[in-house]
Amino acid sequence: MTDPSGQIDHILIEDRKFPPPAEFTKRAVVSTQAQYDEMYAKARDDRDGFWKAEANEHLHWFEPFGDVCQWNAPHAKWFLGGKTNASYNCLDRNIDAGRGDKLAIVWEGEPGDTRTLTYTELRSEVAKCAAALTQIGISAGDVVSIYMPMTPELPIAMLACARIGAIHSVIFAGFSAESIADRNNDASAKMVITADGLYRRGKVLPLKETVDEALAKSPTVEHCLVLQRTGTENVPMTEGRDVWWHDVVDSQSDDFPAVPLDSETPLFILYTSGSTGKPKGILHTTAGYNLWAKRTFDWVFDHREDDIYWCTADCGWITGHSYIVYGPLSAGATCLMYEGAPNHPAEDRFWDLVEKYKVTILYTAPTAVRAFIKWGDEHVEKHDLSSLRLLGSVGEGINPEAWIWYHKMIGGERCPIVDTWWQTETGGIMMSPLPGITATIPGSCTTPLPGIVPAIVDEAGNVVDAQHGGMLCIAEPWPGMLRGIYGDEQRFVEQYWSMVPGKYLTGDNARKDEHGFYWIMGRIDDVINVSGHRLSTIEVESALVSHDAVCEAAVVGRHDDLKGQAIAAFVTIHNREPNEELRKELKLHVRKQIGALAQPDDIRFAATLPKTRSGKIMRRLLRDVASGREVVGDTSTLEDLSVLAKLGDDEA
Ligand code: ATP
Ligand code: MG
Repeated sequence: MTDPSGQIDHILIEDRKFPPPAEFTKRAVVSTQAQYDEMYAKARDDRDGFWKAEANEHLHWFEPFGDVCQWNAPHAKWFLGGKTNASYNCLDRNIDAGRGDKLAIVWEGEPGDTRTLTYTELRSEVAKCAAALTQIGISAGDVVSIYMPMTPELPIAMLACARIGAIHSVIFAGFSAESIADRNNDASAKMVITADGLYRRGKVLPLKETVDEALAKSPTVEHCLVLQRTGTENVPMTEGRDVWWHDVVDSQSDDFPAVPLDSETPLFILYTSGSTGKPKGILHTTAGYNLWAKRTFDWVFDHREDDIYWCTADCGWITGHSYIVYGPLSAGATCLMYEGAPNHPAEDRFWDLVEKYKVTILYTAPTAVRAFIKWGDEHVEKHDLSSLRLLGSVGEGINPEAWIWYHKMIGGERCPIVDTWWQTETGGIMMSPLPGITATIPGSCTTPLPGIVPAIVDEAGNVVDAQHGGMLCIAEPWPGMLRGIYGDEQRFVEQYWSMVPGKYLTGDNARKDEHGFYWIMGRIDDVINVSGHRLSTIEVESALVSHDAVCEAAVVGRHDDLKGQAIAAFVTIHNREPNEELRKELKLHVRKQIGALAQPDDIRFAATLPKTRSGKIMRRLLRDVASGREVVGDTSTLEDLSVLAKLGDDEA
């Protein structure tokens, strides 16, 4: 079915350009192109020399490392023989540098309760939790599942594991008992840390009950630590297994030194979002990951000492790991953390928080931006967002029209936007504008960070030319790269290292334009083949979203006897009636924007699109719906199962 060259046609033209404001550049961490060029060249040409200096400058070493990188594709080891500790780097190192009284976490709960923790206070809490874990019987190498609301105790629990060398496996607190049990069993977890309940849109969800159901099917779990968050009554506690946080953590000594750990000590396991199939348990280790999270944070978020930084992700995703916990805390940042939903009690909750805490850097996802657009500008206009100086996007491609809205409505046309491309597997941001130097173009994640050598190849592994897209690979090892799929070497090798030997296969398609900018073109699995032309989902979707009536769009291929595949589009709309007239208008709109070839054959109006819990559109399920097939495949990470049923009946 596929074009033998394996290249992807590029049809969307986007030439709006946004240079960084001069004021921004003047004070930026990376403030000249020459500075980036020099770093990039050094990391490429002298990998060991570059990362040796970075690691020595940005991490604390209890014992120095010897070799910088041992690369035995697909296995990498970094900073061999060195001893460090991620919790030390996030806490003690900042306290030693004089940031003890600086706020590390500024937290607001969904009901409006607040809490702040300085770096010294955060270290005390982490030390107490580490002492409690040790007392309970957890030691280095044990896996601890964390299924908690977004309270400060979630990063505290993560850092406590890191402090003693236990491996955390954070499970998003919306997952079912089945999904928790799967993850517990896959990782042989010895303990679960959870809470009595969770606030969501004003309601209390009984977390502990769900955990109990999971634990009935998790034979390896011996202990359960329970935080009291919602004050839920009659929480079931199993004698000998379950203990309350306030009984065993609060009374511990706050002097629990970080354990010196070998650089390659596993730090965490984290399951991917499940957009393309069953989630994979990605393994990251201590030193390389920690360094990558910190340096990418410094470069991309242009961190200054007085910033109030807010990443709206949940700690249950890699974005929360790298850019709520390990990156910003290693950099000594002040992080806002919010517990609840963006539309509780009203659709302006985020803007209320930005105004109240004078947030300077905001990092969120396209799915959130699309929701804000749908909810209406009036919620934004009510608030003073003048504290913001930098905006970020992660998780999916951001359609140019959503980018422009974000730039105007949230950024007041003065804040650079960093569209950051990366994955659970990559540990940290791989490609992104550097806000002080990059003239951004909506829809492009622009250029690779130092140390990242992308290669775009066709199915035979040959590099494709600038006019076409192909499979995005990474040609050289980098410190934050995954070290494996936990307990599944075979899947690790097959998934990432078999199709293109010696290079890491990302699973995404991309194109490099004539200026050297990269454009992510969607997933390899999602390419649509119309009459021998291979089209990227994102380009057709962006054309649809550029119509005023369309909020969100997802396109997939379905079988067509004549063309091979036909294009089926699912759209959510606002300000218009879903009818035949609009359907025709949208088809014509795409034809005008990007050409007849890309005109959708079917347009279906949907109330919502199926998404992962991390907010990504699940096209693989839509493929089945578009073909009239029963939906098969893993739906464990689907946000709302009822969405699938509703998609069957088109609104028009
Ligand atoms: P699974 O691997 O289980 O199918 P997933 O790939 O969605 O799930 P994540 O690691 O959470 O799991 O997401 C990484 C993916 O998200 C990337 O491979 C890419 O497809 C998409 N992505 C992330 N950031 C961007 C971005 N800035 N632009 C385009 N796509 C992005
Ligand atoms: Mg993936």
